[in-house]
Amino acid sequence: MMRCELQARFTLSGDVSRLTKEFENFIATTNESILKKGPEKLAVIEHFTIEKGTLSLSITSEGTLRPHNALLQIKNALSKELGKTHHVGVRGITIEKYTISFDLAREPLKDVSIPFAEVKIQGKHATILLSDVSEEFLRRNYIDRMINRVKEKVENQYYEGKAEFWKLIWKSEEKKPTWTKDPTEEMEKLDWLKQGPTKGKWFYRPQAAAILKTMEHIAIKEVLQPLGFQEIIESHIKPFDIWLKTGHMEGMPYEFYYVVEPKTRDAKDWERFIDLTKITKEVPVEELQKNLSAPAAGICYAQCPMIYWSFKGKTIAEKSLPVLVYDKTAISARYESGGRHGIERVDEFHRIEPVYIGTREQLLVLKEKMLERYKHVFNDIFDLEWRMAWVTPWYMQQAGKIGDESTLDTGTIDFEAYMPYRGDRKDSEWLEFQNLSILGDKYISAFNIKAQKSELWSGCSGIGLERWTTAFLAQKGVNPKHWPEGFKKYLEKLPEEIEFL
Ligand code: ATP
Ligand code: ZN
Ligand code: MG
Repeated sequence: MMRCELQARFTLSGDVSRLTKEFENFIATTNESILKKGPEKLAVIEHFTIEKGTLSLSITSEGTLRPHNALLQIKNALSKELGKTHHVGVRGITIEKYTISFDLAREPLKDVSIPFAEVKIQGKHATILLSDVSEEFLRRNYIDRMINRVKEKVENQYYEGKAEFWKLIWKSEEKKPTWTKDPTEEMEKLDWLKQGPTKGKWFYRPQAAAILKTMEHIAIKEVLQPLGFQEIIESHIKPFDIWLKTGHMEGMPYEFYYVVEPKTRDAKDWERFIDLTKITKEVPVEELQKNLSAPAAGICYAQCPMIYWSFKGKTIAEKSLPVLVYDKTAISARYESGGRHGIERVDEFHRIEPVYIGTREQLLVLKEKMLERYKHVFNDIFDLEWRMAWVTPWYMQQAGKIGDESTLDTGTIDFEAYMPYRGDRKDSEWLEFQNLSILGDKYISAFNIKAQKSELWSGCSGIGLERWTTAFLAQKGVNPKHWPEGFKKYLEKLPEEIEFL
């Protein structure tokens, strides 16, 4: 049930106060034509008044035709009518008051507010009140999105603080850890790693770098190359329009590192900045801000959005399906704030992200093959104690399409490792060291990617090298002597240490 009441004012180019009769006719005809479909009333102009150069109307509807859409249609009809008979034009529309009432699926748990309108909720009945709305605002479809946003915010209240859906799908046998220390702390003591220079970033000395690079090498040699993935190199800096399409912009704006460009690269414009820097030997931040543009991009959050962007609007030949590519160049940055820990939750991390685009059947087969290769790495090479769980973040479940629990075809699989330093394997939190998703046509349709005949699906898998490294070291220790044979084949000996005096 939806009910809308709208009070609008048309500004006209001439005095129409003598045209009461004509307006009565116009309104009656409009009610019977544009605002009707067969016998059904879509919307009704309840009453009107005219005063010199303005026509005021009130329109109501039960929601089939929203009054604001009706209004735009009335404007066109009115322009035609007045122009033809009286040479009067319609200059513009102002909505003085717009009230939209609708039902919610559930009662909100607390107040809801949105921009541009006042929201009132009683039980499951919501009303949004707008005043002084421009024509532009109506045309841009903001109102429907405002209604959806209210509904979404109420639903979100029920998900807040709730854990993600988690369902175990496979687990390895228990493995006896070689130690129970936190690998980051131990590597710092050994000087393999150095924290900083800024929050959540690390400097990897040759030993730690060798381990991370070995992880990368194993992922490529044991998983990606055997399955036919090809490497691409993408840009590190993601413009907002890509994130708008994938939904990242509204999804995690608080986790991005934003990128700004200088307003100009003309040294003259930077003269004062340079003078201040030379004299004070500090960065004159205020002066700097004057020379910078507003951010329009951010540092890589995940590699897949730009991979999809690269296929935007393309039709892929059947013989090229499935498309199998991966990026290992772009480094991800996320503002993790209070959650930072060691090298396992950092603000800057190295990830390989394979992306796959193909038919549903192709991707379901590929998923099994990838799981098989991953299992080979974690069982035979790392000898890990780990498990896989089918998870769907609540915001995905809510969108409805992805994460069908009955088939588990779409959705995300998290790979989690037991971290002995965190305590008991039953009670401690395991570390998500990578994931694998099949995302249906979510991004395919967002970027308008097509095939000659087939319906396309896509998916991606995030291989976090820092996470692979800590998961492995947390169970196997930092002494290569205790490492499993499979891993030693890839890295037998660590680089020699740089001695500090
Ligand atoms: P988490 O729940 O741990 O924050 P996420 O769901 O945000 O992870 P995804 O966006 O799914 O992670 O990214 C996929 C992979 O990227 C993870 O499995 C992990 O390997 C890696 N990753 C994500 N965030 C970080 C981080 N802050 N530090 C290191 N690796 C990370
Ligand atoms: Zn991805
Ligand atoms: Mg995260």
